[in-house]
This record gives sequence, structure tokens and C-alpha cells, in this order.
Amino acid sequence: MTLHIPFDNAYAALPDRFYARLAPTPVAAPGLIRVNHALAQELGIDPAALETPEGVAVLAGNAVPAGADPLAQAYAGHQFGGWVPQLGDGRAILLGDIIDSNGLRRDIQLKGAGRTPFSRMGDGRAWLGPVIREYLVSEAMHALGIPTTRALAAVTTGEQVLREAVLPGAVLTRVASSHIRVGTFQYFAARQDTEALRTLTEHVIARHYPEATSPLDLLDRVIARQAELIAAWMAVGFIHGVMNTDNAHVARETIDYGPCAFVDGYHPDTVFSSIDQFGRYAYARQPEIAVWNMAQFASCLLPLMGEDTEAAIAQATEAVHRFPGLYQDAWLRRFRAKLGLTEARDDDGALIHDLLTLMAAERADFTNVFRGLAEGNARDWMRDRDGFDAWAVRWQARRAAEAATPDAQEAAMRAASPALIPRNHRVEEAIQAAVAGDFAPFHRLTEALGSPFDPAPGTDDLRRPPEPDEAVTRTFCGT
Ligand code: AMP
Ligand code: MG
Repeated sequence: MTLHIPFDNAYAALPDRFYARLAPTPVAAPGLIRVNHALAQELGIDPAALETPEGVAVLAGNAVPAGADPLAQAYAGHQFGGWVPQLGDGRAILLGDIIDSNGLRRDIQLKGAGRTPFSRMGDGRAWLGPVIREYLVSEAMHALGIPTTRALAAVTTGEQVLREAVLPGAVLTRVASSHIRVGTFQYFAARQDTEALRTLTEHVIARHYPEATSPLDLLDRVIARQAELIAAWMAVGFIHGVMNTDNAHVARETIDYGPCAFVDGYHPDTVFSSIDQFGRYAYARQPEIAVWNMAQFASCLLPLMGEDTEAAIAQATEAVHRFPGLYQDAWLRRFRAKLGLTEARDDDGALIHDLLTLMAAERADFTNVFRGLAEGNARDWMRDRDGFDAWAVRWQARRAAEAATPDAQEAAMRAASPALIPRNHRVEEAIQAAVAGDFAPFHRLTEALGSPFDPAPGTDDLRRPPEPDEAVTRTFCGT
């Protein structure tokens, strides 16, 4: 059984200054953790071939598969608001892009594949913890129906990585519709390389927005998709944790699962990231940060928006100002669905906010309260029963005004509010076990999270919120 990956390599065909060509750095002893069979098939790759020694060697970076044209992409970005003119793939190697079985272009990238010219002080490696976390959380996001990069495989390297401690090394194979970020545009904008900006814009339009008619139209579409994406995060309690512009994907995939986490006990100010001292990327700030990121993207496109700079600035500003309205519409649509509502009424926003306020006051479990609305036990997850009951009277009256039957409303709620999310303490548990050589909890969690809206029997323990001594309140960047 030989491994065949149908490479096409459109990114490698872009000008040299878009990347540095280099092969992954081999590791000591590749070991297979998991191959994502369904994704492999979607990509037109035989999953069994990926599991052979030859396949595992490719996934570890020890062999470059036929047709690959490996490279590290150049990009820049604002990190926590501070400008960094050159970031780039410091520990990721793009093997190439392929056309998948649906005719869509997909990147295949090894994350943790060794040093590149963009590594700065880093070792180019990843340790097992962030690889397990990204595999679990990105695949959970996909199962939740939220646009995201995917995890094709995870392997161990047989090498040790030095972080706060000496830890086992690993490589994640990441699949994305592309790895083009706002920061990719910023890289060329900062260098006043208008020709590269034009080439990149044409590539992004052809690849992600074929219906876009101009750079301004592209901006509008990127903003609209970004507003949808952030609303989708909010509706499942997802906190990205590092919404830097280099982690803002232009085709709206959730990318870079570093200190990300789902809220257990809900509060709008929730922050998990150990490096986010001031709560810049707190749960409730994500929409305004997205606006900020879109403003950075808009400014990159200005040189392509015609001779009249004043007019271009006015148009770009207008486009960015459309974000809050688009976001609000998407947010309302998603939270209405969580309450079983399909029709729009003026005070729906207040009804939703009032529930969230009750929940925030006692840090009620976000996932279980909303799922409980469908399952009839939301009240059990609240301490303020009177407060909840008073709210529920209004909610029931509002439901009664809908044309849909109670059963249909319940089905809609079940489809909008997952029973299973990758709870932090479970992710942490899977990481701890993996570090000790036991991958069973990781496999079990991966499989359970594959059907979050319709949980399999025997997964009830994964729905339980953490006990106080289990709660994970800090997460660390994926390095
Ligand atoms: P991230 O936090 O993964 O978005 O990474 C931010 C930047 O640091 C990117 O340019 C990464 O490629 C780079 N980077 C992160 N970790 C490492 C590492 N261990 N070695 C080299 N570069 C890294
Ligand atoms: Mg990043």
C-alpha cells in the first residue's frame, strides 16, 4: 500500500517572497497517535496508507511525499495590539495544497516540523499537549458545524521538547482551506509591496471568494463571514484566546488553537489565556476585537482600491462599520435558535440577555443551561430558581407565539445547543494521560465529540461540569 497525496500546489506557485522553501526536519522516532479517517477520505488520501510506517514517516516530517513542495509561509501581525513586522511559520511546514474529493483546495501542513527562517528564538517544535488540544478542539468545532482548520493526524516524535519542563514532542497535521491570514496581507502592506498585495488578493479571490468583483467587494465578504464566525463562537461559549491578526483567517476558519477554551461557568469577562493579562481577548470582547482585526485588513487593501485615497478610506471605513450590524443579526439568529425561536420579535434580544445575566450572576454552566432548555432541565443547572422561573414564564409565552410546534422548537434547540463540548478539564485529563503514555482518554474524547448534538450512550460523564478541584482556569499558549 503506497501513500498517494494528490498535490496541486497553488501557493508554491506564488512569487518567492511569499515563503521560504524548505523541507521538514526529521525526528528521532515517529509514532502514530491517530489518523482522522473521515478527513483523509474527504481529501482523497487512503487513511490506511497514512497508518503504515511510510505514512507515519510523512506525518512526522521524516519523508517528503511525492508531489509535495514544502515551504514556510511569510506573514506579519498584530499580537495583543502590538505590531510585529515579521512572524511567519516558525514551526509549521506547508507540504502543499491539494484538490479534495469535493473539488475544494486544501492545505496540508505539518505543525511542529522543525525550525524555519521564521523561527526566531523558537525550536520549531510542538509538545504533545498543544497537539492533543488542537486535535480535540478543532475536530470538536467541526462537529459543532463551525468553520475551522482540521486535524488530519497526530504523531509523536520520540524526542523531548524543553518548555517549563522536559516534555514529549509531537507533530500535528493541519488541514485548512488555506493558511492565509490578515497578517499575510499585513506582511506585504507593511513593505509597501503593492504588486504582492495584488497577487495575494487575486489568489484569495480565486481560492475563497470567486464571486468577489473587486478588493472592496472582497473586504465586504471577509467581514460578513467573520461576523458569522464570531457569532458561532459566542453561541457555543468558545473563547479563542489569541485573536491576533496573524490568527485571523481570511476565509473565516477558526485557526490557531493555543490557549483557547470553552466556558463552563458563564461570565462575559471570562479569560483563560495565561498571557492575556488585561482580558483583551475575553469572551465578550471577541466581536470588537474582530472589528479591530477587520480594520487592519481593510487598511491593507487601500492601495488596491483606486487612485482616490480619500474615497477608498471612506468606503473601507463604511465596510468595517457594517460589522456590528451583521454580527448582531447573526448573534440573534443563533441565540433565538437556542431558545427554540425561529421568528424575529423586537424584544428577543432582551429575553436572551436577561437569561445570560441570570447565568453570569452565578456562573451557571453555559452548555448545560442551554441544552437544558431543550431537555427540560435547565432550571436544575441554576441556583437562582426563582429568577429562572420568572424568566421561563416570559420564555414560554414567547414560544407560544411561534407557529412551530413545541416538538419542532425542541428539535431546533437540540440542533443549536450541543450536549458535548471539549470541556477544559477533560482536555487536560486527555493531555495528562497522553504524556503518561495512555492515549485512551484522547481517543474516547475525540470519538464522543464527533456527535455533540446527539451524544452517544455512555458519554454522560463528559457532560458534567468540572468540580471545583477539577476546574482548569488557565490555559497556556500552544508553544
Ligand atoms: P502562534 O502562537 O502559534 O500563533 O505562533 C506565533 C508565532 O510564533 C508564529 O510565527 C509561530 O510560527 C511562532 N512560533 C510559535 N511557537 C514556535 C516554536 N516552538 N518555534 C518556532 N516558532 C514558533
Ligand atoms: Mg498563529
